[in-house]
Amino acid sequence: MSLEVEGLEVAYGAVKVLHGVSLRVEPGEIVAVIGANGAGKTTLLRAISGLLRPSAGRIRLDGQEITGWPPERIVALGVIQIPERRQLFASMSVEDNLRLGAYLRLRRGERKAVEADLERVYALFPRLKERRRQTAGTLSGGEQQMLAIGRGLMACPRILLLDEPSLGLAPLLVQELFRIIADLRRQGLTLLLVEQNARQALRAADRAYVMEIGRIVREGPAAALLEDPAIQAAYLGGA
Ligand code: ATP
Repeated sequence: MSLEVEGLEVAYGAVKVLHGVSLRVEPGEIVAVIGANGAGKTTLLRAISGLLRPSAGRIRLDGQEITGWPPERIVALGVIQIPERRQLFASMSVEDNLRLGAYLRLRRGERKAVEADLERVYALFPRLKERRRQTAGTLSGGEQQMLAIGRGLMACPRILLLDEPSLGLAPLLVQELFRIIADLRRQGLTLLLVEQNARQALRAADRAYVMEIGRIVREGPAAALLEDPAIQAAYLGGA
């Protein structure tokens, strides 16, 4: 699925937070948006998902304009956001959380396909399978992040919007997470990834955008940004 964002402006009350953001994601690409705290990355994802209504600009999916559509219609098209604070149902089991991700599909009667996807998610995250009867609230932070992504996959996404997936993960888990992200792309998924962990995001992505206080200030192939001295100084600890 392709995504195009053009001149997007979003405000919280009188405070404008996105000042004309434009970006595109081609089918099968991993695109990263990097930027400091408060740059507006989460706001951008929430606007794409329909959770925030832009005051100007356009959002298109596969060429179809969806600006101002309610979130449930956007989800139904296969745009699935994995929120930064995971938003799991803490007292429900791992497996029930996963099934909830497929709620709309179950209502459409896709029971068989949902069962097959459950096995796919367990194959991707064996740890979740081992812990499928455990309540989500008792999982470690890393396991909860895996569960949040697994739940998103259960919705049969055509584009996955990932908000800070590496936040709070130990280095080894971050590596594993990015390996899984690469696997998902190989399976044909399109991904838009918002990250403060610029190095990992640029390594994983095909292309990237740099966001500063509500504006895109740079864009290009991720490999080129990774080598760029100005990006290194500002976002990669100077290395
Ligand atoms: P982080 O990496 O810290 O999550 P971010 O790049 O995702 O940052 P946003 O969460 O999009 O940034 O926030 C952008 C700006 O909008 C910040 O200045 C933030 O304080 C402000 N903001 C976010 N949500 C709201 C809200 N509900 N009401 C008012 N201001 C908000």
